[in-house]
Amino acid sequence: MTIPEPDFVHKLVLLGDTGVGKTSLVQRYVYNSMSTDVGRTLGAILHVKQIRLRNLLHKLVIWDLGGGESFAALREQYCANASGAFMVFDRTQPQSFYNISRWLTALRAGAGNVPVIFVENKIDLESSLDPKEVMSKVEREAVRYIQTSAIENRNVDLAFKSLLEMILDKIGVK
Ligand code: GDP
Ligand code: MG
Repeated sequence: MTIPEPDFVHKLVLLGDTGVGKTSLVQRYVYNSMSTDVGRTLGAILHVKQIRLRNLLHKLVIWDLGGGESFAALREQYCANASGAFMVFDRTQPQSFYNISRWLTALRAGAGNVPVIFVENKIDLESSLDPKEVMSKVEREAVRYIQTSAIENRNVDLAFKSLLEMILDKIGVK
């Protein structure tokens, strides 16, 4: 049996404070699928998932910070050459939402103007955020916004698929 060659390889990064649910989202997304933990680098754990979209095979290399969230010096390198990013925050921890700005700065420095989705995780729990504040930041940064629950498996596939759609739109894949 031959393994099909992907048409595209995309590096996706999950950014956000410790505890917001990045690892849980990746685990949820790759669970029960053709995925492997392919290695570690720069304090990150790499996962691979192949998906078909717009009639092409895409290899997603998903970078999950392995507890290295506090090493600001590594952030930019971690983001280098990313095709797209999730900015994950925990709706029960407002500070994780405010800290998104720092992650965004690192992403723009390391990867430029790549597609971004703001992910409000833990929607199975009560929010401590002001939705107006969230929406105004979403509009200001011109990003997409998705609410997820890794625990209840809500919108997790949608988040990954949407980011890939945005990447394909940006690079002009019809
Ligand atoms: P990370 O540090 O960003 O990788 O966060 P983890 O994925 O390790 O999750 C931190 C904690 O939040 C763990 O106890 C998870 O079980 C929990 N968690 C993650 N996602 C959700 C969610 O959608 N809802 C709830 N209630 N808890 C979650
Ligand atoms: Mg983690």
